[in-house]
Amino acid sequence: MQRSQQLFTDAKGLFPGGVNSPVRAFGKVGGTPPYFKRGQGPYLFDEDGQRYIDYVGSWGPMILGHAHPAVIAAVKSAAESGLSFGAPTEIESMLAQAIRDALPSMELMRMVSSGTEATMSAIRLARGFTNREKILKFEGCYHGHVDSLLVKAGSGALTFGEPDSAGVPAALASLTLTVPFNDLDAVRDLFAAEGDHIAAIIVEPIAGNMGMVCPIDGFLQGLRDTCDRHGSLLIFDEVMTGFRVHPGSAQGLFEVRPDLTTLGKVIGGGLPVGAFGGRADIMRCIAPLGPVYQAGTLSGNPIAMASGLATLEGLKNPNFYHELEATAEHLTSGLKASAQAAGIAMATNHRGGMFGFFFSDAELVTDFTAVMACDGDRFNQFFQDMLSAGIYFAPSPFECGFVSAAHSKTDIAQTIDAAEIAFDALAKTR
Ligand SMILES: *Cc1c(COP(=O)(O)O)cnc(C)c1O
Repeated sequence: MQRSQQLFTDAKGLFPGGVNSPVRAFGKVGGTPPYFKRGQGPYLFDEDGQRYIDYVGSWGPMILGHAHPAVIAAVKSAAESGLSFGAPTEIESMLAQAIRDALPSMELMRMVSSGTEATMSAIRLARGFTNREKILKFEGCYHGHVDSLLVKAGSGALTFGEPDSAGVPAALASLTLTVPFNDLDAVRDLFAAEGDHIAAIIVEPIAGNMGMVCPIDGFLQGLRDTCDRHGSLLIFDEVMTGFRVHPGSAQGLFEVRPDLTTLGKVIGGGLPVGAFGGRADIMRCIAPLGPVYQAGTLSGNPIAMASGLATLEGLKNPNFYHELEATAEHLTSGLKASAQAAGIAMATNHRGGMFGFFFSDAELVTDFTAVMACDGDRFNQFFQDMLSAGIYFAPSPFECGFVSAAHSKTDIAQTIDAAEIAFDALAKTR
């Protein structure tokens, strides 16, 4: 880690905490983040020559593995024709068409450059369309660093949100209501009191930013029904789950049709792309057709579109998601079995190429309170032991994991072997 240590020390003089996004600083787990030099398939290689099996996948986009030949070729070819025109191009329509083929609810859409931009624009649109100001979100769901969405539950009996970051005006946060994930009764109670003022519910249809937490049966449909009853919009934030859990994303998997969807991560294949879209009557409120303003200098950038399109092309094999899910299943069942063999309680979740594991004796982890009750010290020690063994999990118990099509049975078996050793060490710590 010598070179990584030096680079990290130097970077602290350039960036707050040495990083350009906070989780990368390893604040939760301690130690030095490896500086990566190269990725190939399921592997990352750091500046000190160490190889890692990568379960972060750039936080989701790298569903085909790193440096996939078809994606790299598409990017190179697009780059040779010029990097950006700030004007319409054919390839943005090609990517949009591929997205709509998979997610028919996105009748009209707009490309942006990040997931944050997509959710920020979607809630502005929901407010503009409904002429209402309040938004409902769920505890533990993350929707990017949008002021209105960096909000946590207030301490009072009611659910007025409080800023979850300095710099977010309390007046704005008070317009964001929060309730626990998977708690349909709380949603219904809140709508009974506030329904006429709520522009939209925004939800991660599978939560992936408090570890991985699945919706319980009927939760998403219950949100759909509640929105319909009260004239509110349902926004599925599929920035993480989009093209990650099912060919039709979470809305295809659970067969619930949102009014608006936000995408990011996989649709850029590793370049900065986001999108928001949905019902045509709502989307026609966006400028230049309507009064809701939204714009972007690099929106629909041709290189980013080429990367996204080549990535979506790579998902077309009819067995793709089946195989991806088999890989995630192999990994999570192996982790759980070896934890239990060492006498360590573990709960796991997986869908498509997304997974989570919790140091918890709960049978199922279904909300943020349960996530917070997990053993953070155990996670940290496990993370460090795995990192030393060349296995790169997300450096925080509040992130979920990702497998790619490039992860082989051998990679998974190696991971489980390393985990057995780490769990045995953990068992001896207590
Ligand atoms: C990653 C993520 C975002 C934010 O996307 P950025 O590209 O990091 O701005 C929003 N919503 C969800 C569900 C995410 O996982």
